[in-house]
Amino acid sequence: MQCPYCSGDSSVTETRVTADGLRRRRVCTACKRRFTTYEKLGAPGLKVSKRDGSIEPFDTDKLLRALERIAAHRETVTTDDLRRIARDIEATLVDSGRKSVAWSDIVALALARLENIDHVSAQRLAANYTDESGAIRLDGETRARPVQQLGLPLDDET
Ligand SMILES: [Zn+2]
Repeated sequence: MQCPYCSGDSSVTETRVTADGLRRRRVCTACKRRFTTYEKLGAPGLKVSKRDGSIEPFDTDKLLRALERIAAHRETVTTDDLRRIARDIEATLVDSGRKSVAWSDIVALALARLENIDHVSAQRLAANYTDESGAIRLDGETRARPVQQLGLPLDDET
């Protein structure tokens, strides 16, 4: 990113994930001035590979909707919490420099973050995306439903 003062190169000194995107503190490598930038990432070019072999663009909003279904009716989890999780996962994937990622990796990232906020939601996510052996299933991410033995309400796929 160009320095707004002298158009020199800048380097990042700090990255903060917010609900809306990334806030980066930068320092110009030429004039040493400091400035802050705000970014909405959108993970350009990042692809998600699914078990059935299909590949689709990474979609943070889709991930957020999946998380919202998982955490539905959990009062301890706010939409902002979920947005931060989705943005944080997005930032993690972008910063990793990867061009593609398996859906199971995304689920694992989401599990780790949800576990810090709400154990019940994390268990729902695990129940939705792992099979009896504990392996993460890669399909069905757009049709995530609570398993019935947990006694949870089925959602309506609105
Ligand atoms: Zn400068």
